[in-house]
Amino acid sequence: MTEQNRQAALHVVKRLHEAGFQALWAGGCVRDMLMAVEAQDYDVATNATPQQVSGIFKRTLQVGAQFGVVVVLLDKAQVEVATFRNDGGYVDGRRPEAVEFTDARQDALRRDFTINGMFYDPLTQEILDYVGGQADLAAGVIRAIGEPAARFGEDHLRMLRAIRFAARLGYEIEPETWQAICQLSERISRISSERIATELEKIMVNGNRYAGMKMVLASGLMSHIYGNCPAEQLSEGIERLKLLSEPVDFALALTATLSGGLWDKTSGITRSLKVSNDTRKKALWLAESVCKLLSELPLSKGRLKQWLANEWFNDLLNLVWACQIRDGKDTGPLAELRRQIVDLGDEEIKPVPLLNGNDLISLGLEPGPKLGQLFEQMYLAQLEGELVTQAQARQWVSERVRKV
Ligand code: ATP
Ligand code: MG
Repeated sequence: MTEQNRQAALHVVKRLHEAGFQALWAGGCVRDMLMAVEAQDYDVATNATPQQVSGIFKRTLQVGAQFGVVVVLLDKAQVEVATFRNDGGYVDGRRPEAVEFTDARQDALRRDFTINGMFYDPLTQEILDYVGGQADLAAGVIRAIGEPAARFGEDHLRMLRAIRFAARLGYEIEPETWQAICQLSERISRISSERIATELEKIMVNGNRYAGMKMVLASGLMSHIYGNCPAEQLSEGIERLKLLSEPVDFALALTATLSGGLWDKTSGITRSLKVSNDTRKKALWLAESVCKLLSELPLSKGRLKQWLANEWFNDLLNLVWACQIRDGKDTGPLAELRRQIVDLGDEEIKPVPLLNGNDLISLGLEPGPKLGQLFEQMYLAQLEGELVTQAQARQWVSERVRKV
């Protein structure tokens, strides 16, 4: 897949070159290549205008022609081709108002960080580095291109991007760049929730989420993103991130950040971040289940099966474990729970109920909440292994119908 993308990007560069244009690989793929990491996608930058690019290739998509971007469609891959540009004035801290087509040097200067600002010519194997990206790669530094405060002032999302790259690569953020993020952190509120959530998710699903979120907190970004929750409690939540075991998805990490006594903020924060419905549902379930599970320990066999039937139970256990360890609590009951799960072996967790609602009615129960309750109790007894046959279940129900 990525090799196909590489071949496709090489082909596009060759064709543009044959047509007399300059064409280079640009940005993230050059960084990844220099780090000997497989790049996900290869972006091409060129001095050909979008119209000229569309004229050279048979099938193209004009996704952002006004910003100089054309997607070239090939048999097995597609390649983004962007005309060298210089982003004009930024009016709203989000997107440039207009762009001007320029040369490779100018195009490097509009990019966010030095390590993301390099070009590579796959035909000559030459690196074009106008911004000192190679030195920062070697030193492990995230440095804004140009004046950091001005660059973050143009596009506030770059503050989170800086942290995302620093965390993902295990790099330091250069001091002036860091200072500018701290100074301007409050402006993150002007960025749309969806874009913030996308960056946060990338930080949180990465294995280095603990370092990443510590930076999000220390910079001041977190309290603005989390609606002014107290830093101390957020910090406590972040400490739990460190103790989660992989795999960790967005919902689990997000809930963990609220584990410092901020469970009741889960609904508000998942809503304000506009995370997906699935993420929100899962985060809400996790947040409300931590205390509930702990209060039920030790679990009976039947309750254990009911908890296990939930698809997110493993994540809950992961979170509860992290909370207990962090708080220096006795993990004995949790270890016991794990043993119980192992002991369960391949026993059916969600067997078909021995009796259904109609069976209960025929045994003399009126439809309604009482029937529902009795059904739940009967099913739990079945899960506990107390009721094995239908006859036993009927007998069990009949005894209780008489009492009602
Ligand atoms: P990833 O591997 O996460 O995709 P990437 O570096 O490819 O990392 P993209 O968001 O795909 O990141 O952007 C591609 C390139 O476009 C970046 O390497 C950078 O040069 C430039 N870029 C992206 N977003 C911005 C921005 N907000 N401001 C300035 N330049 C940007
Ligand atoms: Mg990319």
